[in-house]
Amino acid sequence: FALRGASWTFVNERLAEISGLTVGELLEGRLWEFVHPEDRLQLEVDRSLWTAPATPGPNLDSFVGGYYRLVRPDGEERWIHLRMAVVEGDPDGGWVGTVEDTTNEVTARQHTTLLATVVAATTDLVAIMKPDGGVRFLNPAGRELMGLAGPDTARQLHGTTLFGTAGWRRLCEVALPVATARGSWSGDAEVLDAGGGHHPVSLVIVAHKDAVGRVDRLSLLARDTSSQKAVERRLAEAASHDQLTGLPNRSNFHDALTAALATASHSDSPVAVLFCDLDRFKAVNDSLGHAAGDQLLRIVATRLTGLLRSGDMAARVGGDEFLVLAGNIEGQAEAMMVGERIREALDTPVLLDATEEGVHLSFSIGVAVSQPDDDPKRLIARADEAMYRAKELGKNRVQLHEPGMRRGMPATLVVEQSLRRAIERDQLRLHYQPMIDLRTGMIIGAEALVRWNHPEHGLLPPRSFIDLAEETGLIRPLGRWVLAEAIRQAGTWADDRTLPGGLVMSINLSTQQLVDGDLAERTGAMVKAMSLPAGSVFVELTERAIAADEDMAKRELMAFRDHGIGVALDDFGTGWSSLSQLRRFPVDALKLDAAFVGGLGQSPADDAIVSTIQGLADALGLRTIAEGVEVARQAEELLELGCTTAQGFLYSRPLPAESFAALVRQGPVPLTSSGPAAPHRDVDGAGNVTQHPRAGGGHAVNH
Ligand code: C2E
Ligand code: CA
Ligand code: CA
Repeated sequence: FALRGASWTFVNERLAEISGLTVGELLEGRLWEFVHPEDRLQLEVDRSLWTAPATPGPNLDSFVGGYYRLVRPDGEERWIHLRMAVVEGDPDGGWVGTVEDTTNEVTARQHTTLLATVVAATTDLVAIMKPDGGVRFLNPAGRELMGLAGPDTARQLHGTTLFGTAGWRRLCEVALPVATARGSWSGDAEVLDAGGGHHPVSLVIVAHKDAVGRVDRLSLLARDTSSQKAVERRLAEAASHDQLTGLPNRSNFHDALTAALATASHSDSPVAVLFCDLDRFKAVNDSLGHAAGDQLLRIVATRLTGLLRSGDMAARVGGDEFLVLAGNIEGQAEAMMVGERIREALDTPVLLDATEEGVHLSFSIGVAVSQPDDDPKRLIARADEAMYRAKELGKNRVQLHEPGMRRGMPATLVVEQSLRRAIERDQLRLHYQPMIDLRTGMIIGAEALVRWNHPEHGLLPPRSFIDLAEETGLIRPLGRWVLAEAIRQAGTWADDRTLPGGLVMSINLSTQQLVDGDLAERTGAMVKAMSLPAGSVFVELTERAIAADEDMAKRELMAFRDHGIGVALDDFGTGWSSLSQLRRFPVDALKLDAAFVGGLGQSPADDAIVSTIQGLADALGLRTIAEGVEVARQAEELLELGCTTAQGFLYSRPLPAESFAALVRQGPVPLTSSGPAAPHRDVDGAGNVTQHPRAGGGHAVNH
């Protein structure tokens, strides 16, 4: 065919055959209307090269054109290859063209056309560059990321405009040599936009070589990772900070203290550790509810940090326990003064939303001053002992650790001995918290949670003895008992005809239990002895437990899987710096930590974290179980994000075995809270539920 400007001057019969149009229609220029909608953009770009004869146009040694799909009037689709060339010496700007039907040849070029569509549609930046940095092509997403206006600007761009002078230099030094040698490079970089903003991207550079092996083009693929980076930052923060108060946590404090002690050993100024425990916090929490308790802890944290000198640190290390590090002090007298200031900080009553009058609290504070060659654990333990002494002496006071104290039995040692006896004397109990299918309200299983039925103090929650058990190694006999008891209970339920089959039993493990190396083996044997089907027992491990010894953890997790025991990562989101590590471990489920679930629908950061984790779980084929669901709104958000299993006080507190079974027999639990909850007292020392198990609401402190 032939064209003059935009008008058609000649077509042949073959073109009519291919296109399904008549010669007359073709001469009216109607061919373009039948190009597939998805290929029209490409066609427009190509046509701009030949419909403007006034401009000399690009240097056309040969034909221009491309591959497009035609949708013929009869609906049939054909691939055509269109080629155009200038009629040389024609003053009127004439073109001749050919159309070839290539429907039956799936050629590389057709793929190229398809790829061009992908490149235009993707949300990643795609650029093609000369090795000197000159940009030859930038896709729409790239222009958007850089805040550029028209498509024509691409050719004025350079690597230095994309990445900044320093950024481009770094890529030239690091990335390009690797790409040249290995074909490609990938890593992190920052793209600059027209407004001076920086966008973190994960970048892939591919080096294309010509026939003699010289790099003649680079393609760049960059994905904006700002939102992912924000999530990772939040996760890293969560790992080292207390969620409630934003203060550093115990491990963070430990690190800071280690560093401070190292500095102290070079100077004459010792370091003081102050162990601060709120007096009567539990009473406030029980009478005013956990929201008030949380608010109180936050206010206390703010007052504490207000007192610190630069370089000092306050950390929250337990429910109502805080550690303060005061560096560079003169000696004991000054340390005691710091303690007094902290004690006085609580002299003004705390105003809470829940009460009219202010709440009056006080601190019992133990002070210990470092000695040469002290180690962090010992120093903290001395402050702890002094704090217990302060409590014994009537609370609301600051007590210095005195050498003689060690001779009296430290409080922790007393507890340690009685915990040892507890295991022998059968004072441990398991309670079971239902796991709910959020879509139906059905109870699909339970998490086993240990309690200590103390002869004097009644039923103690794990937070009052698990840490000690970990420190003293008692966690191993304790953990063995929990495993055996939970699996025995699972067996009993499986045999109970009045209960539905397939209930899952989920059991917490501590890091130390892993190191034996035959844990999976022993657990598998118990599961088998109870004739429980595969998938009915899960173990819960924290991410930190796995990070402690990755190779061992991986072996052990594999072994669990071989025995048909599922592995869930507990408290997920609080200990992992990079989500991508997850891929490397054979796990089946993630338990979304209550800290993030609590913020759902209120904190955009928590929404982002939960949806990121859910997305990741979906991609890796893992189940998710949300912990700590307390209000219906959180459950709705979870369902929205694709998480269908949850536990929480909204549905039920952890229950003794009998109460759990009774609840299961009642059928699905109501999915929304049933009005305002009565003041809660869940289980007495003998394990009887004193209130309806479904009553929601309650305390931050679990029983
Ligand atoms: P975890 O594994 O994260 O267990 C969930 C904890 O959250 C339980 O506390 C549970 O009672 C509480 N919880 C459940 N729903 C809600 C809710 O809606 N709101 C609030 N605020 N809390 C809720 P519990 O029973 O006091 O256990 C505390 C921790 O003690 C457990 O945390 C686990 O790390 C450890 N633990 C418990 N039993 C065992 C055990 O047998 N072995 C080991 N190694 N650790 C255990
Ligand atoms: Ca758990
Ligand atoms: Ca947990």
